[in-house]
Amino acid sequence: MEKKNIDWGNLGFGYVKTDYRYVSYFKDGAWDDGAIITDDMITMSECAGVLQYAQTVFEGLKAYTTEDGRIVTFRPDLNAERMENSAARLEMPVFPKERFLDAVIKTVKANEAFVPPYGSGATLYIRPYMFGYNPVIGVKPADDYQFRILTTPVGPYFKGGVKPLTIRVSDFDRAAPRGTGHIKAGLNYAMSLHAIVDAHKQGFDENMYLDPGTRTKVEETGGANFLFVTKDGKVVTPKSDSILPSITRRSLIYVAKEYLGLEAEEREIYLDEVKDFAECGLCGTAAVISPVGKIVDHGKEICLPSGMTEMGPVTKKLYDTLTGIQMGRLEAPKGWIQVIE
Ligand SMILES: *Cc1c(COP(=O)(O)O)cnc(C)c1O
Repeated sequence: MEKKNIDWGNLGFGYVKTDYRYVSYFKDGAWDDGAIITDDMITMSECAGVLQYAQTVFEGLKAYTTEDGRIVTFRPDLNAERMENSAARLEMPVFPKERFLDAVIKTVKANEAFVPPYGSGATLYIRPYMFGYNPVIGVKPADDYQFRILTTPVGPYFKGGVKPLTIRVSDFDRAAPRGTGHIKAGLNYAMSLHAIVDAHKQGFDENMYLDPGTRTKVEETGGANFLFVTKDGKVVTPKSDSILPSITRRSLIYVAKEYLGLEAEEREIYLDEVKDFAECGLCGTAAVISPVGKIVDHGKEICLPSGMTEMGPVTKKLYDTLTGIQMGRLEAPKGWIQVIE
C-alpha cells in the first residue's frame, strides 16, 4: 500500500480530507446496509433536526500502525457502546455495536494510505457521528438519521516535547446535574466554547469544571477526564454521573492496577484536596495523558510538585505503559487491540 505524501511529523490537529467515508441512513424505522462513499459533502433540509435542535452525537478514536506494521484501533467496542448510550439519551435510534465495529474497519481500510507509519507519532483520527436530518420544526426527535464516519490524519500531540498545562477553575458549568454530561454530544461542546475562549484569553490552557450541584468537587475539563496521583503513589480519578466516561481513563486505571501494581480508585474528589496531590493529568484519546503543572483557583495557585517541565513519575509510567500496549511493544489485555486486516 502506497502511503500518501504527507509530512506526518508536522501534521497538527486539523481536518485533512481523506478519500473515503462511511454512511448509513436510518429511514422508515430501519438502518440501510451502509456504504463507503467518496463525496465529503452533505446536502440536507434547511430545517434538519440537527440544525434546529442539535440532535447529534459523536465518538472519537484512532487508528495507527504498530511496531510490527499492523494497523490497529484501541478498544473500539467501548466507543460503540458509548455511542449507543449517547444516542439513546437523545432519543436517536441506536446504531448497533457490531455494525459500528464493521463500519470502523471498512472506513480505516479504505483510507489505509492515510494511516501514518509507526514512529511518526501521527495517527488517523476516526470520527463516527450521527444526526437527525429530516425537517423538524415542532420540538421532537427526528425520524430520519445518518450514521457517518470520517477520518483525518492528525499529528503527534506532544510536538516538541511534553509541556505541563496551566488550568483554571471555571466559573461556568459544563453539565447540569442529571443532564447530558455523561454522553458524547455536540451540545456539551457548544456550551463549553465560551468558557474555553475566555480561558485562553486569560492565559490558561483549559478549564477545570466543578460538579454543577455543589461546586465543591472536581469533574473534568471540556474534553478530558482528570487523573490524580496522591503523595503516597495512589491513582485517583473523579467519580460523578455528569462526567464523560473516558475510555483512556478507564484503561489507565486498569493499567495502574494490573501492570504497575498501584492502588487505583474512582471516587469523589473535592477541590479542597487537590492541593495535597503529587501529580495531575488530563486523559483522553488525543494525548493519552497531558500533565497538569498548575491549577489556578481565582488567583490562588496550586502548583503540582511534578512541576512545569515534565510529566510526574507515576503519570509517565502510566503513559509509557498504555502507549506501549497501544503500539504493540507490550502485551495487551485480551480484546484491547482490534487489528484491521
Ligand atoms: C471524548 C471525551 C473525553 C475523553 O474520552 P476518551 O474515550 O478517553 O477519548 C473526556 N471528556 C469529554 C467531555 C469527552 O467528550
